[in-house]
Amino acid sequence: MITHSFRETLDGGLEKTGQVVPMIPTFVFGWPSGDELGDYLAIDLGGTNLRVCLVNLQGKGKFEVTQSKYRLSEEQKQDDGQKLFDFCAESLKTFIDSNSGEGGLIQVSPGQKLPLGFTFSYPCKQDRIDHGVLIRWTKGFGAANTEGEDVAAMFQKSLEKFELPVTLTALINDTTGTLIASRYVNPTTKIACIFGTGCNAAYMEHIKDIPKIKDLGLPDNVDMAINCEWGAFDSFEHEHLPRSKYDVIIDEASNKPGEQAFEKLISGRYLGEIMRLVICELIDDGILFLGQNTYKVEVANALDTALLSLMESDPTDELLMIIGIFSHFFALETTLAERQFLRAIARLIGRRAARLSACGIGALVGKMGYLEDGCAVGCDGSLYNKYPGFAGRIHEGLIDIFGEKASNIRTHHAEDGSGVGSAIIAAMTKARKDAGLYVNL
Ligand code: ADP
Ligand code: MG
Repeated sequence: MITHSFRETLDGGLEKTGQVVPMIPTFVFGWPSGDELGDYLAIDLGGTNLRVCLVNLQGKGKFEVTQSKYRLSEEQKQDDGQKLFDFCAESLKTFIDSNSGEGGLIQVSPGQKLPLGFTFSYPCKQDRIDHGVLIRWTKGFGAANTEGEDVAAMFQKSLEKFELPVTLTALINDTTGTLIASRYVNPTTKIACIFGTGCNAAYMEHIKDIPKIKDLGLPDNVDMAINCEWGAFDSFEHEHLPRSKYDVIIDEASNKPGEQAFEKLISGRYLGEIMRLVICELIDDGILFLGQNTYKVEVANALDTALLSLMESDPTDELLMIIGIFSHFFALETTLAERQFLRAIARLIGRRAARLSACGIGALVGKMGYLEDGCAVGCDGSLYNKYPGFAGRIHEGLIDIFGEKASNIRTHHAEDGSGVGSAIIAAMTKARKDAGLYVNL
């Protein structure tokens, strides 16, 4: 039922603008050839980190990446938007400066500008590839004066402020980048998913099946990547996804109640908190940690999703890892029965997230008719990469949806979607415009 309604929602988003799942046209036209070449800069404003990369595309699906990561503070996420972009530009400047001296990797001659791909992984409405109006912040961001603004123009302003030798070639979403980067190395890729702070998917659609952009007058036989923004599935109405009371609490306590309903059941930002709420309820009911001081675990967001990964991967009969986690982070002693119970809860939360993700993948596979010939699904994000068994549980879900043929659908770890993908899209865009194709888009 979920897969079915998901598919209807995806079609609805292609039909009309302003839908809950916005199915955003990305202006990335078709697949990369695999022979894209040259040096490109990429900057990735993720939910947790800011990453700056220099990507050297070598063709034949090969590349090299040099990168630096910068931590984003909670204050930066909520402060003024222009300040956030200034921080991005400043970090880019630090990166260029530290890599461009004598013998450095970045050599820019006077007047030369390096193409830059900006991975901005929040839903934007794009009229062309180097433009994007932020529809709404997700993943706990709330920077002021940014929603409803063209973030490419805001970032451009910051780039000029720091006098950087770069041209903002493409504004992309990490999910679209993952799609293109995965395809660059694996030509059977047709779908990409992100399971990190947030969750999302992208795929390649036929222009003729995107009624809402008919006005652009593009030929029917070209394809365009679609950024689904599927984390928004079932927002506001809550009519398709079964939510527990813990999910409702998370939603109501979030900075965007009602929104991102699918994401709130799945992504890294929320899974730890779901478990913490279960624990808190059982503390209140006098069932867990009797007679102990529990204030540390009663702080909102005190339990990171990474800890669920650790609990699930504990190989010992005594569950020594879980002893360690609860004593170290929360100053709590646990009985073996409590630890077994805690692990069982982690399993339920992790398994539900993976199986719901399978519903989304199943909707795309069904809609595009990929089941018979099969396809690869490039996946990125800490949850997919680090949560034990996450991929296997997605696959179990796909088998429950499609039966044995689900083995034609293979998920795999997508190597660096947001950096490399962004660079490849910058390369594709430059080549497209140099060839005079849809130069205004
Ligand atoms: P971003 O979303 O910023 O691109 P990531 O893909 O690294 O970054 O996702 C970060 C999210 O993944 C955080 O919510 C964090 O709680 C979660 N996370 C980090 N490490 C792990 C882990 N080992 N297992 C499960 N989740 C993790
Ligand atoms: Mg990411």
